[in-house]
Amino acid sequence: MPEKAEPESFSPPAPNIARLGRIPDWSQLDPYQGTITREEFVYLLNHCYSRSPEDSAGYIRLQSDRALILKQSNYPELGWYDLRFRTETPLSAPVPKYWRSPTEIDDLPANSTKPLQGLRIAIDPGHIGGKWVTWDDRHFKIGKDTIEVKEGEMTLIVAKILERDLTLLGAQVFLTRESNNPTTPERVETLQEEAKAYLTRRGQIPSAGLLASTAKAMFAISSEIRSRGEIINDSIRPDLALCLHFDASPWPSGRPTLRTPNHLHLLINGCYSRSEVAEDDTRFEMVLRILQRVYYEELAMADVVSRTMQKETRLPAFAYDGKSGMSVNDNELVWARNLLANRVFFCPVLFFEPFCMNHSETHLRVQEGSYDGLREINGIYRKNIYQEYADGVTSGLIRYYRQRR
Ligand SMILES: [Zn+2]
Repeated sequence: MPEKAEPESFSPPAPNIARLGRIPDWSQLDPYQGTITREEFVYLLNHCYSRSPEDSAGYIRLQSDRALILKQSNYPELGWYDLRFRTETPLSAPVPKYWRSPTEIDDLPANSTKPLQGLRIAIDPGHIGGKWVTWDDRHFKIGKDTIEVKEGEMTLIVAKILERDLTLLGAQVFLTRESNNPTTPERVETLQEEAKAYLTRRGQIPSAGLLASTAKAMFAISSEIRSRGEIINDSIRPDLALCLHFDASPWPSGRPTLRTPNHLHLLINGCYSRSEVAEDDTRFEMVLRILQRVYYEELAMADVVSRTMQKETRLPAFAYDGKSGMSVNDNELVWARNLLANRVFFCPVLFFEPFCMNHSETHLRVQEGSYDGLREINGIYRKNIYQEYADGVTSGLIRYYRQRR
């Protein structure tokens, strides 16, 4: 007799995960059971994290006493994570997190000259420099420039000034990179298979061009930032992280062009779109940030530091259209946006975007380099651009921690 055919084995679809992300372990939310009220959870979710209530609808179900969070967005059969809300009892202990808010750090002695004493600060100089800038796309030369504008090298110059100055103010300072080289051991060549699998999972045909651009982004963005995330979350475990960047305006012609206006903004984490909430790891990370109440600290700090940055740099505010970034308070310099770094660094993150590198004045100041003292720039005596950037950050942190500790 012929053997009875086995029922065709069923395998669930591959989960929807961000580039180089990991399948979340939902049990890591267990220590947060009963630590947040329904009111606060809904407020944080809708005010800052989900771009609109519709963006998280269907992935997070709000019930009277719990939130149900879909574990695998493309396979509901796997079930929901059941997060119970806190009822009356006040919290007896702080929620699990490695970072400390200003009130959790020892008070400053009276008349202290070191307002950042006891703080652990991670500085992340955005992008990579040196020969790696070609992978990174944040570099250009205009006309007869002698100095090429390289964001990854400029952020490292600012980081080293901050390292010196914040240390003098009592902080313990750690850089995610000390040189212009990547921290990740991966390279474009080692990520080919991973890039192909990622595109296939998303139903895209891995043509040669798409494969090349995906592997490049996987190296310079995903792999590099995730590697820095491991350094921050596993080794440094800071009280805050400063992500240093310079902005740039798009050049529609396809070749580098000087553009106006010049501007400044600071980002905190938030504004998740529906397709981002649909990624299982991204949704998990968003919920974890809500449960750790990172928002209050990030916003309060960004509010103070953005103002000292503006005083120092004299730059006008940049404005988003509400799609990729959204406003969460009345400070026009501060925007919520979901970026890999400010999502996976599990502490309050201040993400700086001052100066458009392809604005004529910024471009001129980069050509002037790191001079000492002041120089006349468009009729005004100014510090070199790197010192000015660092001084805006430092005076903001001094002001914030003096107010709060
Ligand atoms: Zn940047």
